[in-house]
Amino acid sequence: MTTPSPQDTTAPDAPAAPADGVPWEYSAAPERTPVKIDDRCRLFIGGKFVAPKSRKHFPTINPATEQTLAEIADGGPKDVDAAVAAARAAQPKWAKLRPQERAKYVFRIARRIQERSRELAVLETMDGGKPIKESRDIDVPLAAQHFFYHAGWCDKLACAFAGRTPRPIGVCGQIIPWNFPLLMLAWKIAPAIACGNTSVLKPAETTPLTALRFAEICREVELPDGVVNIVTGGPETGRLLVEHPDVDKIAFTGSTEVGRRIARSCAERRRRLTLELGGKSPHVVFEDASIDQAVEGIVQGIYFNQGHVCCAGSRLLVQESIREPFIRKLEHRMNSLRVGDPLDKNTDVGAVNSRAQLKTIEHYLDVGQEEGATFHQVSATGAGALPKKGYWCRPCFFSDVQPSHVVAREEIFGPVLVVMTFRTPEEAIARANDTPYGLAAGVWTDKGARMFEMARRLKAGVIWCNTYNRFDAASPFGGYRESGFGREGGQHGLRAYVELT
Ligand code: NAD
Repeated sequence: MTTPSPQDTTAPDAPAAPADGVPWEYSAAPERTPVKIDDRCRLFIGGKFVAPKSRKHFPTINPATEQTLAEIADGGPKDVDAAVAAARAAQPKWAKLRPQERAKYVFRIARRIQERSRELAVLETMDGGKPIKESRDIDVPLAAQHFFYHAGWCDKLACAFAGRTPRPIGVCGQIIPWNFPLLMLAWKIAPAIACGNTSVLKPAETTPLTALRFAEICREVELPDGVVNIVTGGPETGRLLVEHPDVDKIAFTGSTEVGRRIARSCAERRRRLTLELGGKSPHVVFEDASIDQAVEGIVQGIYFNQGHVCCAGSRLLVQESIREPFIRKLEHRMNSLRVGDPLDKNTDVGAVNSRAQLKTIEHYLDVGQEEGATFHQVSATGAGALPKKGYWCRPCFFSDVQPSHVVAREEIFGPVLVVMTFRTPEEAIARANDTPYGLAAGVWTDKGARMFEMARRLKAGVIWCNTYNRFDAASPFGGYRESGFGREGGQHGLRAYVELT
């Protein structure tokens, strides 16, 4: 018997065709991989799971249901001391290990991430609210790819910097945000340990679960004790790590505001630092672009992860001659997005990560309307009924926005796009660069020469042409200006984890 296709309306279980204008209803398709979560999670220090000396815990919540998933250890001063001491003790031996041996450990980590990928994806989605298709198809495979890629560098480091000899820096304090918890962990830990450093990593307080599962993987592959240490906690735990006298380097990914504070603190201590911060990245769409392709790239780039992407293309600059058809198509595509249960494989837009982030987004939605911009939002019927509990924001955009508007200047970090227009390429460049940030940009045009000219003149660390949000471990990622400094990924990313002599 053949499996009836969803379009086959003669099949017995086929859904009835909806009336005109009414969206299709899909059956629920939840990801059912069982995931066990301990009620109370410990810190991972010196190769062991240990109770926090602070004796404090805080809950981590599923933002789609508001249910507590686990109590998380809140690392205090003695816990950070213990983690840094374990990393310090392990570092000389780890650095002296034959590079081929180090590579084997990093490679085994990558393999275990692949083997446990379903579980990691489900956990990431439950803890962070992102759709399972994002965590399953993007976050977890890219995290594994990062370890594979850096395993390859371990025994080739001596050739990576022509005429110079790389040496490990020592103990790295690494602090990450909540939008890509496992992937940001991979961006930090893989290059650090591949280069012979040891790590103390602090995950974000709202998404610590995959980092703790990663600690289990470190044990499974018998990574030497102390090479990786995971200290959970909030901003205070992060501050303790940044200010710890025995840390040699800080790598921070997060908001520009916290990044500034950390930069001051590291400057006072003359400590090495890399910062990956916020953004307000522009898309520039020329009249010769393929409109459908551009609409798809823009919709995926801003809405598919609830806009919780540092390089989300959140400012759209569209050439005036195609403004009307472009906005029409954008609205049409936006209305086809499904918002809801992040564990459902059909979901495009999941839950906002926390109540606090939802409040921030709602504040900007009010500000945009007060400033006089025209507000377009997915209708309640278009998006599907939102669950009663949880933190939700239906995808939306503002048109008739001026460059001076707050919503055009500040990072919203939600599924909110602002649309502006331009007449000439010069005006497009001026408007795109009119921001204190400089993380990423998208250019949509049919003309090769125009692509190169735009790529040369846009002030952003990453520029995608006729596509958006494509990542690869071999390709460096990072920002300009208030989006930070230093690169992660590729040969450039290694530079942040070695001393050169
Ligand atoms: P955040 O700055 O509030 O927190 C990030 C991390 O820093 C968390 O682990 C937090 O506990 C910790 N922290 C907070 N205050 C601290 C302090 N004073 N000292 C040390 N640590 C401290 O950011 P967030 O809200 O978790 O993440 C969202 C931000 O991250 C957005 O601005 C986004 O653009 C940015 N981001 C950037 C990149 C990039 O590659 N450039 C990637 C992901 C996210």
